[in-house]
This record gives sequence, structure tokens and C-alpha cells, in this order.
Amino acid sequence: MPTVWVLGAGQLGAMLKQAAYPLALDVVPIEPDSEHLPDIADHDIVTVEREQWPDTAVTRHLSSQVGFMNADIFGKIADRFHQKTMLDTLGINTAPWRSVELDTKAEALHAELGPDVLLKRREGGYDGKGQYWLYEDQGDEVPSDWQGTGIAEKKIPFNEELSLVGARDKDGNKVFYPLTLNLHSNGILMASVAPLARVAHLQPMAESMLSKIMDSANYIGVMAMECFRVGEQLIVNELAPRVHNSGHWTQAGACVSQFEMHLRAVSGLPIKAPEVRGQSVMINLIGVERELSWMEVPSSQSYWYGKDVRPGRKLGHININHPQKKAVQLALSTLRKQLPDNYNDVFDWVDKELK
Ligand code: ATP
Ligand code: MG
Ligand code: MG
Repeated sequence: MPTVWVLGAGQLGAMLKQAAYPLALDVVPIEPDSEHLPDIADHDIVTVEREQWPDTAVTRHLSSQVGFMNADIFGKIADRFHQKTMLDTLGINTAPWRSVELDTKAEALHAELGPDVLLKRREGGYDGKGQYWLYEDQGDEVPSDWQGTGIAEKKIPFNEELSLVGARDKDGNKVFYPLTLNLHSNGILMASVAPLARVAHLQPMAESMLSKIMDSANYIGVMAMECFRVGEQLIVNELAPRVHNSGHWTQAGACVSQFEMHLRAVSGLPIKAPEVRGQSVMINLIGVERELSWMEVPSSQSYWYGKDVRPGRKLGHININHPQKKAVQLALSTLRKQLPDNYNDVFDWVDKELK
């Protein structure tokens, strides 16, 4: 069996490693600034758990391997200019946008994109970092450090945010998890609910969009497509060519998790349509100190990433899964008491969906 080297050693790399055990694959996450250059065999595989990586000896070494999967696609997706251009070329609905050039004025952006315009850094943004709102009624100008480094997007008055996680193997076979409903607060994912009967009719449309994207890139592995739902339309917000936070519920709620699915696809093992069991809810642990009582919540599994606690930082997540919604609701009411008050809105949002 080959070794699967993972560029990036955060929580996604750790969860890939966890998922590798039943496949007897050796998964080795590597920090980009590691001083040790790993000895990689030609039959080994290199995959990534981050969209951006600094230019270091290790990242150059990993990305020059014959087994580096999806080599052509990362640059395209990591730069929002190229990602949005790709979506436009494929005729996939995405928020109207334009490039912020060195001489782009706010007036021109508002004329084209409306009174509220969201600037996004071309590269490096995540968890809502790297965003800046331009409000016409406040007379905002494009800040100088945004000139030539961003794109501008029209504000989408969405009903809600949905994501689709899918996988494609080397023969072009594709499998998908059910659409996941996501709640973001200040650009950061707080909670996911899946599956959800009331959005199931959008599944075929979402699958055909992501299929088109993965096929056009000859992509191998798991990819996530974040969408806005506006009425009966899906508008792509952004793509993630890797396992994704909105797919974490699959660890508890599917017979093959997104992490195992990704490893199967990149290492040439069979992928299969994941049977989904029961109702799942995922709660992200953002900027909170660890509580051991989380581990006692019924019908749940908790993940703590072992990172330093900082406000707004993703530190872990809790998956709740049970065949019966009532049991999920009970677990949520226990967890609500254990998390800070600012989580009340999150629990209210989840409770409403499970009614
Ligand atoms: P991620 O951690 O998902 O990679 P990110 O920093 O790359 O996040 P986006 O996913 O582009 O950022 O945006 C974060 C959130 O901001 C979205 O989930 C959505 O809630 C909001 N948002 C983004 N673009 C728009 C838009 N055009 N109109 C309205 N809201 C938006
Ligand atoms: Mg992103
Ligand atoms: Mg996003």
C-alpha cells in the first residue's frame, strides 16, 4: 500500500489520518515549514488539506512528486479570480463579480454590483478573514491595500446556505452526500444539519453542478461546493478542493465519511455512494475553552483539535447523530447548557430545522 502524504498538518490532516486505519493506508500529514524533507516513493500519493501553501522546501518537494493529485487545479481554485472565471466559463451560477484592479473605484463597483459590495482577497482568505464590505450609502472607498489584490462580489440576498460534498475517482465515477444546511456567523461556520428533507429536491441540480466542475478539472478526491439558496436557485459561493468543515457530520452520519472517501478516491480504492444514517447535526467549537462534559453528551462524538484557544478560532467540533430526531434534540438541549450564551442563536437555528 502506498503512503499518502498530506500537505498541511491541521485538523483536516489529523482526521484523514484517523480515517485511514480501516484502509491500511499510512497517512502522514506534513507541516509546510517542516525542516525534514520526507522520502517519497514514486507510487506514493500526495494530497492536500489546505488551499494555500507557502513556498517552502517541503511544499516544493511535495508538489513536485509524480503522485501529487490534482496538480493543475489548486492554483485555479486558490485564486478567487481564476475560480470565478472557471465558474463563469462553465456556465455555473455564481455571485456576480469583477476584479478589483489598481485603479478600480468604489463608484464603478456600485454601478455594476449594487449598493452593498463584498470585497474578497484573491488569495488566502478563510473563515471570513480577508473580506471587506463596501457600502455605497456610507461613501466607502476601496482601501488602498485592496487595489489589485481582490475581487468584488454582489451581495446575495440568500435564503440560506447549503453545501454539497462529493467525490470523484480516477475513472470519473462520482458520489455525493446529501445537501447540508449551514449556519455562518461573521463568515465562520457555526453549525450544519444533514440530511434535510425540505431541500432534497435541490439535490439533482447541485449534483449536476458539482459534477460539471469536477469533470472539467478531471478532479480526483473530495470536493465541496458552498452555495447560496435563493428561492429555487443555487448560486455557488466558493469551491473547496478538499475535505470540508460542512462534511464533518459524515464521520457520524454516513457509512463512509468524507475523509475515508477522499482517501479511497486518491489512492485508487473503490468509492461508493455513502449510505446515510439517521439525523446529523454538527456544532463547531469556536474560541471556547474545552469542557470535558461535552464528552458525556448522548448520541454525540466530540473532536478537540488541540490548538491554542483564541477568540474566533476553530478548536473542535461535536457531531450529534441518532436515528430519531427526538434523541438528537435531547442531545442538543444538553449541549446548549454546556456552551456559552452566544451559542443560543445557533441552537435556536438548529432546533427550528429539527421541528
Ligand atoms: P471559508 O472558511 O468557507 O473558506 P471564506 O473566508 O473563504 O470562508 P466565503 O465562504 O467566501 O469566505 O464567505 C464567508 C461567508 O460570508 C459565506 O458563507 C456567507 O455567509 C458570506 N458571504 C460570502 N459571499 C457573500 C455574498 N456575495 N453575499 C452575501 N454574503 C456572502
Ligand atoms: Mg473559502
Ligand atoms: Mg466559504
